[in-house]
Amino acid sequence: MKVPLFSPLAQNEPLAEELQKAFQNVLKSGYFILGPEVAGMEREAAAHLGADHAVGVSSGTDALLIALMALGVGAGDEVIVPSFTFFATAGVVKRLGAKPVFADVCPACYQIQPADVQRLISDKTKAIIPVHLFGHTADVDGIRQVVDGRPISIVEDVAQSMGAVTGGRFAGTIGELGCFSFFPTKNLGGFGDGGLVTTQDAELAEKIRRLRNHGMHPKYYHSEVGGNFRIDALQAALLRIKLPHLDQYLSARRFNAQRYLSELSQHPAVESAGYACGHDCACELEKNDAAILLPMTRCGQEPTWNQFTIRVRNGKRNALREFLLEHDIGAEIYYPVPLHRQECFAAYMPSEPLSHTELLCEEVLSLPVYPELKSGQLAYVIETIQGWLDQTTA
Ligand SMILES: *Cc1c(COP(=O)(O)O)cnc(C)c1O
Repeated sequence: MKVPLFSPLAQNEPLAEELQKAFQNVLKSGYFILGPEVAGMEREAAAHLGADHAVGVSSGTDALLIALMALGVGAGDEVIVPSFTFFATAGVVKRLGAKPVFADVCPACYQIQPADVQRLISDKTKAIIPVHLFGHTADVDGIRQVVDGRPISIVEDVAQSMGAVTGGRFAGTIGELGCFSFFPTKNLGGFGDGGLVTTQDAELAEKIRRLRNHGMHPKYYHSEVGGNFRIDALQAALLRIKLPHLDQYLSARRFNAQRYLSELSQHPAVESAGYACGHDCACELEKNDAAILLPMTRCGQEPTWNQFTIRVRNGKRNALREFLLEHDIGAEIYYPVPLHRQECFAAYMPSEPLSHTELLCEEVLSLPVYPELKSGQLAYVIETIQGWLDQTTA
């Protein structure tokens, strides 16, 4: 049996007719950049997320870049980011001439921790980018508390977690700005690159609208420098077809993750931290001698499981990955190299070691969890992992 890590095809095929109709409408309208389809997508995405404003942009990376531009981040500023995340989160900081300050993450839920952020705040800190990693949520309220009234903005990186809920609110609506991606493997997968910025602040929203179009306002007058960060009308039209199905995609992801959690945890070599919050539980988990640790969900959140990421201990992660690939099961390492160890960030080496990040980069492995995964495929992945555990832990 073949189980790919992702399958955008299976998600889009049932919508083929509607998607083709949307394409025909854009084709006939002759309106290809911004315009009514983009305005419609922004309105519907804002309503779905409970955000006051949503601005469509060219990618998740550009969403982060334009968010920092709108806040005026530049030379001399520091922006705190987790080291355990996709490159874009820190790349945009450096591109604006500011300094990325790398924070460690929790070894059980993989998210940036308020206590780590607190130690890194300085007079130069202009913004913090909590990343809602793997479809789970980071503790944005906790980070707000440690910011404690200082003029520091919170930019949520929601690229992997559209639809995730924490404390009754959608991720991306808690900080000053929320940045989303429509890359095909994200929760709301588009048909090429696309992204979105959300905010409750009308002035920031207007600024982002200007910046995505070269800072132009009114036409051919530029009081500031922006760029071309526009989203295509066609992309927006196609996303509008998929947005009403987002909840259903997320329930399927949750169902699949729940099955991994309940069935894998039955093996004696697997430890499940279940629902827990904070560092104490993480430390309890570390003491355990299980071969595999299942991902932890923080209290009060509904994760979206963009990834189902386990920890394979005792230096056996690559061996399990090879074993799964030999059995036609897709499995990937997000992420093999901490950002603070990337060559391009050599100038920003943290003063204290980021030991959890280092450990995770050695141990994490992401398994197929996409919504269209068939029940038999899931069972096959679980059996294959159990079989490997029987061989290696006997
Ligand atoms: C995917 C991703 C991005 C970038 O999104 P693109 O649309 O690919 O530019 C940023 N941050 C994180 C955490 C991501 O996973």
